[in-house]
Amino acid sequence: MKVAFTSDNIAGASESVWQAMMEASQGDAMPYGSDEYTTQVTRMLSELFECEVDVFMVSTGTAANVLSISAMTPVWGSVLCHKESHLLCDESTAPEFYTGGARFVGIGGADAKMDPALLERVINQKVGDVHSCQPSAVSISQVTEVGSVYSLEEIHAVTGVAKAAGLPVHMDGARFANALLALGCTPAQMTWKAGVDIVSFGATKNGTMSAEAIVVFNKALAKDLAFRRKRGGHLLSKMRLLSSQMIAYLTDELWRTNAEQANAMMALMQAGLQTVPGITINTPAQANMLFCTLPEGMADYLLAEGFAFYTGRWEKGVVRLVTSFRTPKEGVEAFVESARQFAQQQGL
Ligand SMILES: *Cc1c(COP(=O)(O)O)cnc(C)c1O
Repeated sequence: MKVAFTSDNIAGASESVWQAMMEASQGDAMPYGSDEYTTQVTRMLSELFECEVDVFMVSTGTAANVLSISAMTPVWGSVLCHKESHLLCDESTAPEFYTGGARFVGIGGADAKMDPALLERVINQKVGDVHSCQPSAVSISQVTEVGSVYSLEEIHAVTGVAKAAGLPVHMDGARFANALLALGCTPAQMTWKAGVDIVSFGATKNGTMSAEAIVVFNKALAKDLAFRRKRGGHLLSKMRLLSSQMIAYLTDELWRTNAEQANAMMALMQAGLQTVPGITINTPAQANMLFCTLPEGMADYLLAEGFAFYTGRWEKGVVRLVTSFRTPKEGVEAFVESARQFAQQQGL
């Protein structure tokens, strides 16, 4: 069986999500979020996060990120994020567009996690200098772009530096559920209890069709978000069809079941690849994404065998493997087996 490990968004949506959309599609409902489904999403997310949250549904992760951050920074501000972050590398100029031209500054740190000491240094440069942009917000990704996960201590270290300077913190949770299961903590512990003010609560990669939620813990930041979302073209008129996806995602812990499958398949993949001669694990996978370096010729061999994954975008031999809620065990086993076969043929 040949499987693709290209990304988790190559999978479709869970059946119960489609079912929920079909049911919500019956009859009439008030538009633009003035419907009972949207109210229910806020209730369910408040329960999940154990506090009263403000929720703004949007249809892409990019919109969730840039709208969240637009509520945090003046146009002369700078937003500090990791230099390999999705915000900086994969959202075109949406960050500048939505913030009205704020500066996004990349901070270093191992495994795509921001180094708190570097962050502190950049934050304290040129404060009050009218010639320089002024640090105004911090954004971290959980799961990170290389498949690592910030521990709770590491989140606290970053938010501690931000808070000391009075800066709000955003979390890009495109893979929120995968990270949460990796840490084994509660949603509250990974967010507001750790100093996060807004999270982009991702659901699309883990089972919905197109539903992402901006979840705001800091009331002051929610004040203008409804206007920003409308201005940015993300106030859906048939909002209930978006909200019904999120309801299905939160019902019976579908988010957990789906992320468990994705993470378990990656754990299986990693354990298998570790025993194949010639393969180097670059960043140990904690959730559902793995970067590793394959010996010469192996990537081409696996691609010719019919497997799919991204390669050629990084240093020579580096590939990215991502599992999803739909990844079958047999597919992972077949992949590892093919890698082993190649290594044997090559006498590695
Ligand atoms: C996929 C992803 C997003 C959201 O991307 P969209 O394509 O806009 O939905 C945001 N952040 C990270 C880290 C992602 O992997």
